[in-house]
Amino acid sequence: MKNILDKIISFIKENKKMTAILLLFLVIGGIVSGLCLDYWARTGRTPFSKPGKVCVVIDPGHGGNDVGAVNGNRYEKDDNLRLALKVKECLEEKGIDVVLTRTVDIFLSLEARCEFANSRSADLFVSLHRNSASSAVGGAEIWVGSDNSYRARSLAKTILKGLDDAGISDNRGVKTGYITDRNKDYYVNSHTDMTSCLVELGFITSETDNKLFDENLDAYAQAIADAIEEHI
Ligand SMILES: [Zn+2]
Repeated sequence: MKNILDKIISFIKENKKMTAILLLFLVIGGIVSGLCLDYWARTGRTPFSKPGKVCVVIDPGHGGNDVGAVNGNRYEKDDNLRLALKVKECLEEKGIDVVLTRTVDIFLSLEARCEFANSRSADLFVSLHRNSASSAVGGAEIWVGSDNSYRARSLAKTILKGLDDAGISDNRGVKTGYITDRNKDYYVNSHTDMTSCLVELGFITSETDNKLFDENLDAYAQAIADAIEEHI
């Protein structure tokens, strides 16, 4: 071992220029590899592979008879659709191919929502919801599947950071599993073939969150679209 070290030291002493060039290549190689790995983890592609046709599915939760969470005559299904339509606008402005599981107030089963995305071989699936609890509880959270893919977590984190910047009453974090059972997943996270997450954008039962939702709707939609753009 000592012998090898001595040889290396004497090589460095004799070839200072060569050593500097080698070190420079190592540093540049490390940086480039790091950037490539980060790009691959976020997008599922290498920087050298041509992007195929990317399709994003936005899923406004609930609809029809299934009104979702309620506060007086305010229904979660309507807020989800309002937001989804705005996100669609923002994505289309970026030239991103986007489809909504529903564009009107109709009932859709969870199976139908997943089948919709799977049959299109969509690249990303983002389900939009609003939460419900006592009136004192507020804030946004995002759920990812327990397979805990780096890309889903990264997408969820970026969306939540954007929502936080736009203005939410509390950042409740990115969560894994299902609200009442961490060993289960939200159906749309476990039955979609692509990277997915479920956004709970504030509590419909909180007047503060509802005011923020109405005032920041455009900024929320933009934040979600920006995060999606970073991950395709
Ligand atoms: Zn919901």
